[in-house]
Amino acid sequence: MQAKPVDETFKLLRESVREFVKKEVLPIATKIDRDDFFPVDLFRKMGEMGYLGVTIPPEYGGSGLGYLAQAIIEEELGYASASLALSYGAHSNLCLDNLFRNGSEYIRKEYVPKLCSGEWIGSLCLTEPGSGSDALAMKTSALRLGEKFSISGSKTLITNAPYADLLLVYAKTDPGFTPFVLLSTDSGITRGKKFDKMGMRGSPTGELFFDSVPVGHERIVGDFGEGKNVILSGLNSERVILTFIFTGLSRRAMELALKYSTERKQSGVEISEFQLIQEKLAYMYTRYETSRLLAYEALDALETNKMDVIHSAAAILHAAEAAEYIAREAIQIMGGLGYIRDSEVERLLRDAILGQIGAGTTEIRKRLIAKELVKKYRKDINFLNENEMR
Ligand SMILES: Cc1cc2nc3c(=O)[nH]c(=O)nc-3n(C[C@H](O)[C@H](O)[C@H](O)COP(=O)(O)OP(=O)(O)OC[C@H]3O[C@@H](n4cnc5c(N)ncnc54)[C@H](O)[C@@H]3O)c2cc1C
Repeated sequence: MQAKPVDETFKLLRESVREFVKKEVLPIATKIDRDDFFPVDLFRKMGEMGYLGVTIPPEYGGSGLGYLAQAIIEEELGYASASLALSYGAHSNLCLDNLFRNGSEYIRKEYVPKLCSGEWIGSLCLTEPGSGSDALAMKTSALRLGEKFSISGSKTLITNAPYADLLLVYAKTDPGFTPFVLLSTDSGITRGKKFDKMGMRGSPTGELFFDSVPVGHERIVGDFGEGKNVILSGLNSERVILTFIFTGLSRRAMELALKYSTERKQSGVEISEFQLIQEKLAYMYTRYETSRLLAYEALDALETNKMDVIHSAAAILHAAEAAEYIAREAIQIMGGLGYIRDSEVERLLRDAILGQIGAGTTEIRKRLIAKELVKKYRKDINFLNENEMR
């Protein structure tokens, strides 16, 4: 079921991404996982096909279709390979969108087209060894040295870092925080280890070290010292878009479970006839559908208000928990075979777990939702009625 009617452009886009995924991604999804293989050529091909820059206007190398297009691509990639979808999200949403939304004309002209085409791969670098959920406790700093800045510190758990050409790096400045464009060719940058993860394998995650990296003023993203808003609005958009990885993953798990339940017979009966299996299918479906509804609601909210935290946090909170639940139940429906690596559903469960950690944790999402609810309630005790009017 589609959460809401979509126009022809987006229908065609979804069909084309489905075709691409069927031909190019599904056949290598197991390899991506088993060999921790990042298909860099395929990633560049996604640039050639216009998928990387869907939110960017044509004059800067994109197709200007907006967040709905990005969400559709995320969802379809998430269905086939959540790890490729994660790398796509880190490149297109976390890095490219932030750069375009906040960057100067120089930045838009100089860097954005290379990220849209896939010539360059991008990362967003916020997390540090000492600051994860409490991102603003970062230690990486940019010191003013005459006409330039000198950036020192380190970042960790950064998606695409082992391959990235462009790094959007948040640093402490005086005053505030400021995002800077760093290039992998800049002096003083070292890539650290690539992490060996339980899931999302193939999406390369790594460390970065900065030792007095010299950066000019033209590489400042947004207004100097005003990076906190860039961070918070970026995180909000990231929550919404990454939600779709997990709705896609859930659909795949549901399909595999349904297929198996109609093929497998026990005691002479299709297992889909057993009420306990039917209960699982019913709950899996309900959680999948509610994930999609919340995801599209959050997407609508994002288009009108970049800081609508309730919708974004609720969408990813629910979709991530649902994906884990659905993948786990898919394994249960497949019995012993579900526990075997060839089943695919075991990968889906490992990949789904990232949903409760990346883009902020489940615990932080709950905090954000509750704080916003209380704030709204204090302003207007009837605020929940707004929703009943629709
Ligand atoms: C595969 C992967 C890809 C990633 N990609 C990127 C990337 O591209 N860029 C980037 O910058 N970062 C990235 N991250 C980092 C990710 O954003 C952080 O892991 C996440 O924000 C949590 O931070 P942490 O790991 O330091 O955990 P911590 O913040 O140390 O949290 C540990 C535990 O304490 C809980 N906790 C912390 N604070 C609170 C609180 N106030 N109230 C209640 N509970 C709390 C957490 O919920 C968690 O359960 C990635 C991580 C992974 C695993």
